Amino acid sequence: MQISVWILGDQLLLDHPALRLAEEQVGRNRLTVLMVESETRARRLPYQAKKLVLLFSAMRHFASRLRSSGYEVDYRISTTTAGAIQEHIEAIKPEVMFTMQASEYHGWEFQENLEKSLNIPVKILPNTQFLTGHYNPIPKPLEGKRYVQESFYRKMRTHFNLLLKGDGEPVGGKWNFDKENRRRLPQGIQISPPISFIPDRGTQQVMEEVDHKFPGIGETRGFNLGVTHEEAQKAADDFFENRLPDFGAYEDAMSALHDTVNHSRLSPYLNIGLLKPLELAIQAQRRYEEGKAPINSVEGFIRQVIGWREYMYWQYWRLMPEILNRNYWEADRSLPEFFWNGDTNLNCLRHVILRALNNGYTHHIERLMVVSNFCLLCGIDPSEVNEWFLGVYIDAYEWVMIPNVYGMGLYADGGQIGTKPYISSANYINKMSDYCQGCFYDQRLRIGKGACPFNFLYWNFILKKEARLRSNPRMRRSLLGLQNIEPEERFVIRDQAEKYLAW
Ligand code: FAD
Ligand code: SF4
Repeated sequence: MQISVWILGDQLLLDHPALRLAEEQVGRNRLTVLMVESETRARRLPYQAKKLVLLFSAMRHFASRLRSSGYEVDYRISTTTAGAIQEHIEAIKPEVMFTMQASEYHGWEFQENLEKSLNIPVKILPNTQFLTGHYNPIPKPLEGKRYVQESFYRKMRTHFNLLLKGDGEPVGGKWNFDKENRRRLPQGIQISPPISFIPDRGTQQVMEEVDHKFPGIGETRGFNLGVTHEEAQKAADDFFENRLPDFGAYEDAMSALHDTVNHSRLSPYLNIGLLKPLELAIQAQRRYEEGKAPINSVEGFIRQVIGWREYMYWQYWRLMPEILNRNYWEADRSLPEFFWNGDTNLNCLRHVILRALNNGYTHHIERLMVVSNFCLLCGIDPSEVNEWFLGVYIDAYEWVMIPNVYGMGLYADGGQIGTKPYISSANYINKMSDYCQGCFYDQRLRIGKGACPFNFLYWNFILKKEARLRSNPRMRRSLLGLQNIEPEERFVIRDQAEKYLAW
């Protein structure tokens, strides 16, 4: 029997379950691996050029690795995935195809329909890229019930035995050290930037092809990520050694001077299978045990990787496809032009947007408290925001983008994922960053000439959505500030916001 194993581009797992099963059944000689670069898929949106380079180069390096281990690989660069698979079947004539479930909903629908279109059995194995795939920490959700990330995270910690004492209680006496992780960066602090990799000949070839075939967002020049499992592990080691110790303390800090602060920048590797979440969590835990990183940093990192990341994947599959129709605030405005060129006087947004356009990366708080905060306050249509993030970011895939944008960033889902909308005025941005120093706008002014737009937009949003916000107990404190705003000032806030939003 001849078996085909279709490996998707974001599933570059060394222990790919479909490959393992096929090998167990027929041996290496009677299986062919299929990998496809689809040009139509790469053109579905204008994508971040560096993302395409990472994806295609990592796929090609993975294919070479498989070939040198004795596997037959049919690597196709084709107009469509469907066309490439059809041609592969005609050429190889396998009796059966094995594949692993796509992490994205529409990819999985496509796999489900393959059997009919190919006329051979197609076995879809469970996705092993995520921990929630083989462990469901929460029983089947009840209609209308909200699942809070914190309880999900604790169950994950317990199940995978991370940062626990012998009695099952958390190391350090607390499950969550978030309160200790909100420091502003001290002036003049030295931070080690993420390790850079010089593109090899294969990657340079991909860069030329992307430049030529897929003009999109940003440019391939300056691409400096790793493209193999070994390079991704080096990037992880670099983070553990140089930035993990201070990761926790400055997790929420933002700076015009430091792109990454002490974040890991490992999401691009994790999301295509070059790194695995549990292995990273165990490596971080070891750093704590060896006394090389404090508990607030290690717990904070583990919470991101096996808490937030897995929670988002789990919510994505629970809420798709209905979540795409959610628009709790009835937001319908378009993105302003400056989201495509960074040409704005709002210093924080200019920095973050330019970083995102040029390199496809900004850290979490900049995505949440600068970009999506602005979009939420302005009432931008969630589908436009989602598309912007999907196109611009190097680590963007639907399974992670949709719950983060519709849920965490915009609260467009009405609170299925997050427990409150993440909105703030300039006060928060000023407290956590150096952006406001030297900005065209004044972060102290709520209205009038030079007032920071985050201020009047914030109060305009609160005034407009007061009834809905009052129904959320976590928002009551924010609403207290309304008592100090006289009717005349309310009028000016609304007027200034309306004029600003007329783009
Ligand atoms: P670190 O801060 O070092 O965290 C370590 C890891 O934890 C990350 O690599 C990531 O894998 C995981 N993680 C942390 N928070 C989240 C989260 N909320 N959801 C999922 N994983 C998380 N992440 C993506 O991988 N792709 C996206 O397209 C993406 N879009 C986002 C859009 C919005 C509006 C928001 C608010 C968040 C988004 N995130 C996305 C989540 C998070 O911002 C990034 O994972 C993180 O910034 C990646 O940088 P890092 O590797 O340096 O993360
Ligand atoms: Fe951003 Fe307002 Fe601060 Fe300027 S003043 S950096 S626009 S928050």
